Amino acid sequence: MRRQLRRVGALLALLGAQQVAVGQAAHPSPWATAAPTALPPPASLSKGVWLKGDLHVHSRHSKESSNNPVGKIVAFAQSVGMDYLAITDHDNHVDGDVAHHTWADPEFQASPLLMLYAAEWTTVRGHGNALSARPYDHQRLYDVRDQRDVVVGAVKKQLDIHLSGNHPSGKDHFGYSYDMLESLEVWNSVIWANNANAQMIWDDMLSSGRRLTGRGGSDAHHGRPATPAEATPNSPQAEANYVGTPTTWVFATARTTQAVVDALTAGRVSVSMNPFAPRVEFTADLNQDGQPDLMMGDNALATGQPVRFRVQLAGPVPAGATYTVRVVKNGNPLDTLQLAGKRPAVEFTDTPAATGRTYYRVLVEGPPTPYPQVPKSMALSAPMVGFSNPIYFNLDPNF
Ligand SMILES: [Zn+2]
Ligand SMILES: [Zn+2]
Repeated sequence: MRRQLRRVGALLALLGAQQVAVGQAAHPSPWATAAPTALPPPASLSKGVWLKGDLHVHSRHSKESSNNPVGKIVAFAQSVGMDYLAITDHDNHVDGDVAHHTWADPEFQASPLLMLYAAEWTTVRGHGNALSARPYDHQRLYDVRDQRDVVVGAVKKQLDIHLSGNHPSGKDHFGYSYDMLESLEVWNSVIWANNANAQMIWDDMLSSGRRLTGRGGSDAHHGRPATPAEATPNSPQAEANYVGTPTTWVFATARTTQAVVDALTAGRVSVSMNPFAPRVEFTADLNQDGQPDLMMGDNALATGQPVRFRVQLAGPVPAGATYTVRVVKNGNPLDTLQLAGKRPAVEFTDTPAATGRTYYRVLVEGPPTPYPQVPKSMALSAPMVGFSNPIYFNLDPNF
C-alpha cells in the first residue's frame, strides 16, 4: 500500500512536470524573432554586371606554396577571363604583416584585375578569409586571433571587413562564432565530393535565420613549373586545382572592388565548377506577371501566395546536354527537375509559409565543362556544375 502511494505520488509529480512543460511551450519567448512587417525593396535585377573570380589563392608569400608568384596567378586568371581575384596568403607566415608582403608586391600593384585586399587569417582555431575593397589594418586581426570571440568580433567590426569562414568541414575549419561571418566557403578546392558536409553546415546556418553567403575558393598553392628543374612534389596539383576551381560569380552594381565585396555580402552570388562552366541563375516571380522580382540573396515578405521560381543556365552549354536541378527548401530536398536545350531554363512553383522563415536554393549537376588550362579538374568537380545562393522569405533583416 505504501509503495503504491509512493507510485501515485511519483505519477502526480510527473503530471505536474508535464503541466509545467505545456505552460513553457505557451510562454512567449522574449527572444522569439518578430516577423518582419516591411522589408527594403530588392536592388535592381538588371543594373549590374556579372563578375567572376577566385576568393582563395596562395602566392609565394605563403611559405608552403611553390612556383606561384603573384604575377603568374594574375596572368593566368586574366587568360581565363577572370574579373577579380583575392590572393589570400597565410598571415601567420608573415606575422600578420600582409600589407608589406602580398599587398606590397609590385606584381599585385600592377595587376589589371580587380584585386581585393585579402589574407587567410590562419589561427589555432581555424582559418577564415578577410576580404576588403581597400587596404585595412590586418595586423590587428592577426593580433587578436587567440582572444575570445567578443574581442575578435569588436576588432573585425572596427576594421569594416568582410569575413568568410574557410573549409568549414575540413581540417582547420573556422572555429569561431559564425555571427562574425558574412560568407562561408561551401566549395573548397576542386574535389566537389569533399564538400558535402560544408553544404550541410551551410544549410544549418541558413535554417537558423542567418543570411550567410555561400562562396567557392580553389585554395590553390602550386603553380605550374616553368622548367622541369623547378618542379616540386606538389607541382602535379597545378593540373587539377588552380585558379577558378571553383569560380565564384557575383552580380556587382559596378566593376569596382567595393561592388564585388558588396555583392558577395548581399549573396548575389553563384558558384560554378570552372570559369567556362555555365552560371546558375535563380530568380523568383512574386506576382505571377512573368517578370522576376528577386534574385539570389534577396529577402522578401511571404504573402501566403504561390511564388514562381526560375532556374537558368547562362553561358554556352554543349549541344544535347541535359542537367539535373536539385531544389533545396529549408535544408531539405523539395524537388528534382531536368534542364535541357540551347538556353536551359526550368520553372517551379511553391508557396513560402506566410509566417516563419523560408529559403530556397538550387544545385545543378550535369556534364562537366572542359577546362583545358587545368585539365585534370573536370573529373574531380563532376557531377557538380554549379549552385545558387538562396532566395529568402521573412528573414529578420536586423539579425
Ligand atoms: Zn585554410
Ligand atoms: Zn588556404
